[in-house]
Amino acid sequence: MWWIMRVDFVNVFHISSITFEVQELVPANTLASWLTPENAFMKNLFYIFILGLFLTSCATTQVMPTLTDSPQTIPTFTATSIPIVILESTVTSRPPAPTATPALCNPFTADFCITDGHFLLQRPIHPPANDSVDRTYPYASTADGTRDPHHGVEFQNSFGTPVHAAADGVVIFAGPDKEAVYSPWQNFYGNLVVIRHDDELFTLYAHLSNVDVEAGDDVQAGEKIGEVGQSGAATGSHLHFEVRLGDVEDYFATKNPELWLIPKQGNLGAMMISILNETSQFQRAKITMQHYLMDSSDVVGVYYLDTYDLGMANSAENAAINDLPSGRYRITLIHNSHLYERWVDVESGKLTQVVIIVK
Ligand SMILES: [Zn+2]
Repeated sequence: MWWIMRVDFVNVFHISSITFEVQELVPANTLASWLTPENAFMKNLFYIFILGLFLTSCATTQVMPTLTDSPQTIPTFTATSIPIVILESTVTSRPPAPTATPALCNPFTADFCITDGHFLLQRPIHPPANDSVDRTYPYASTADGTRDPHHGVEFQNSFGTPVHAAADGVVIFAGPDKEAVYSPWQNFYGNLVVIRHDDELFTLYAHLSNVDVEAGDDVQAGEKIGEVGQSGAATGSHLHFEVRLGDVEDYFATKNPELWLIPKQGNLGAMMISILNETSQFQRAKITMQHYLMDSSDVVGVYYLDTYDLGMANSAENAAINDLPSGRYRITLIHNSHLYERWVDVESGKLTQVVIIVK
């Protein structure tokens, strides 16, 4: 039976989601009447549907002679590796659907919480151009002390690549930043577009080679507003993209765009991590995230994440990453010679919140 445990993780999750949502969406009295003998046909149909999903999952499973696998090498989140137990553990650490009675997941007491996040922004770069955040100089990074703390993220693209509004809004600035309004330095952003969205949310698009809009213009999400360039303090052509909340002219009002951009298609989610000491002060750490196949010792991806420069830690989190494949992750970090480990899940289109208290 061991091969059954090697079910593709994503498929297991689909089953868990469906089961969970059915339970949430059907009130108790409706469920009772739904399960009466008169509705035996519907009940059977439901069971056949669930059975079909499970068999589909099994069918995609690689049937391997893994009886020789050593159980000790299997990453165990719970005491057992039977999938249903893991699913229960997932359900208890996940907030209910919006229609259910609110029961907040507390990331300080749970291993992790999964929420909808606030993914309000589309990518400012559209495929086939590069719409992935550059991982070498992410938000609040100093690139290992070689650069200034980063107030935005980069989308590396060639000159002339179209740049699009990330959401509906009004252009409040368009042109060269000859005056030090949005940063402490003149001509820092080069040709810049700033858009005001709802609820004091702003997006900035810097180093453009060409600007298509003017201050006062209404823009729609996805509308072309300019083109990628290298104007201002830029090395190489790229789009520097920022998100600000509150006072748009405050250089320290920036937020990590990775927590505002909708995860890309393809079962991708996002994660925010807070590394705190026992007095709730942010701590620096280099974080390793290993993505595992369900009930397997196979690592299918490794992600490295640095915490924010301490001067940038003005948010709830001090590390974040978007576009993570859904699945199970082992987070490890070393702080003051102690190894910390946490197992968490990432779900498609969702935000996983993790708080790790270190000594
Ligand atoms: Zn930048």
